[in-house]
Amino acid sequence: MPKQKINIVWLKRDIRTQDHLPLRQAELSGIPYLIIYCFEPTLISYPDTSVRHLQFIYNSLISTNNKLADYDRHINICYAESSIVFSDLIRVYDVQQVFSYKESGTEITWHRDRIISKLLRQHQVRWNQYNKDGVIRGIKNRQNWDKNWYVVMSKPPIHNAYTHDNSKLQSHTEFPLPEDLLEQLVSYPKQYQPAGEENAWKYLRSFTYDRGRNYHRHISKPTESRLSCGRISPYLAWGNISVKQAYQHIKTHKHYVSNKRAFTGIMTRLKWHCHFIQKFEVECRYETACINRGYEDLGFTNDDTYLTAWKKGLTGYPLVDACMRCLTHTGWINFRMRAMLVSFLCHHLDQDWRRGVYHIAQLFLDYEPGIHYPQFQMQAGTTGVNTVRIYNVVKQSQDHDIEGVFIKKWVPELRNVPKEFIHEPWTMTYMDQKLLGVTLGEDYPMPIVDLQTSARAAREKIYGHRKDSKVRKERVRILETHTRRRPNQRDS
Ligand SMILES: Cc1cc2nc3c(=O)[nH]c(=O)nc-3n(C[C@H](O)[C@H](O)[C@H](O)COP(=O)(O)OP(=O)(O)OC[C@H]3O[C@@H](n4cnc5c(N)ncnc54)[C@H](O)[C@@H]3O)c2cc1C
Repeated sequence: MPKQKINIVWLKRDIRTQDHLPLRQAELSGIPYLIIYCFEPTLISYPDTSVRHLQFIYNSLISTNNKLADYDRHINICYAESSIVFSDLIRVYDVQQVFSYKESGTEITWHRDRIISKLLRQHQVRWNQYNKDGVIRGIKNRQNWDKNWYVVMSKPPIHNAYTHDNSKLQSHTEFPLPEDLLEQLVSYPKQYQPAGEENAWKYLRSFTYDRGRNYHRHISKPTESRLSCGRISPYLAWGNISVKQAYQHIKTHKHYVSNKRAFTGIMTRLKWHCHFIQKFEVECRYETACINRGYEDLGFTNDDTYLTAWKKGLTGYPLVDACMRCLTHTGWINFRMRAMLVSFLCHHLDQDWRRGVYHIAQLFLDYEPGIHYPQFQMQAGTTGVNTVRIYNVVKQSQDHDIEGVFIKKWVPELRNVPKEFIHEPWTMTYMDQKLLGVTLGEDYPMPIVDLQTSARAAREKIYGHRKDSKVRKERVRILETHTRRRPNQRDS
């Protein structure tokens, strides 16, 4: 009996039903199609991945399946390497075409994609891969990139229409999730943003309706930003919504004119989202190697006790500790607090950025390799083309958590400490501590480093190294590849 002809839609970081080109092309292809998502053991055991990512993905898949059920369709959720799933599908069916978005991922996903490409070629299966969110594969520089991005963003989003699947195509249940993993994925912790397309729109609509009014005023405040920021990052990262959908929703919203400053602010950042992913698309080695190769020669003390204190939120610097604990619990903190955590790790604690980069990746519910690694390195000062910011964590605290509300929420050991001491509790006398019921060094640590000394040492080290000939040579290459600036332009 001849095998049934089918096509396959392979979902990765694009778990949604609308503005989805691979799904539309499959619908138009005129033959039955299967939709698959693979939880791949090699990828999910990689150190950048955590259970919270898998929980978000799984719950996004389930909510997508609820929508597709209206058309007797669903995503086949497989637990296996994608090469095994494709081999099996090719064995059972006469697979004609595969539709997917291009993934601007880490080296391990590129390696996986090369294997799949070879496998599909061997079996004369055509793999149609589409550009995602204005990110372009194979470009050598940024000539016309911005212009092209605006062209992509202004095109109408795809309205995906679905036919009923009357083909009796067998769903593929050969690769079920192991029971223990499934148990973890099903119970989605309440403290994380809820997953899925509907929730993506709920967050976006509430931003444009009223939450976003104070976006630009609160963006750096650890407490207020939780309400005023878009909070759409996990949905963009796992593709519950496309950048174009978000961009157009904000741009055409009836509140756009009255909230112009806030709305243009978030729209600019949507472009940054793609700008950073484009960098990583061109050079995914930024996951493990310094963007500017000249910084590979920089030495670090790499003290393990400091690293552990940072990871646990026990550095003795209240805002740093509050941020790490909040991130650990909820999966989100704002941009400035992320930058501060990295700056503190790499500059004040003198750690190689690679010692913290996976820890934070695992904690971010919105982990997006294309943004994460270039941003992490910018804050670590290893690009050689950006201004190095060595954050004064006490000043950040005084400026952005004036009353210490955020600190007291996440560092309850300090809940009775008044605002004059909350940013620098070590300035309390022994008597103050006794009266307030907190003993530094017992209930909460004394600062693990002296801020002035560590900042001075970091400044000398990182600024001194900028003059290194290798750093300067690399700087020219980086500017030519990733920016539209001339190499002799000043940093910004
Ligand atoms: C060390 C470090 C690591 C980061 N890692 C990630 C990551 O893994 N995933 C991620 O989505 N963002 C990352 N960011 C960028 C930024 O902090 C988050 O995008 C933002 O805080 C998400 O919250 P939001 O959706 O409310 O953002 P909003 O301010 O509402 O912005 C809307 C969207 O624009 C994009 N965006 C905002 N700021 C930036 C930025 N500085 N660079 C690039 N895109 C931006 C995001 O997609 C965001 O969802 C990182 C920043 C730093 C300093």
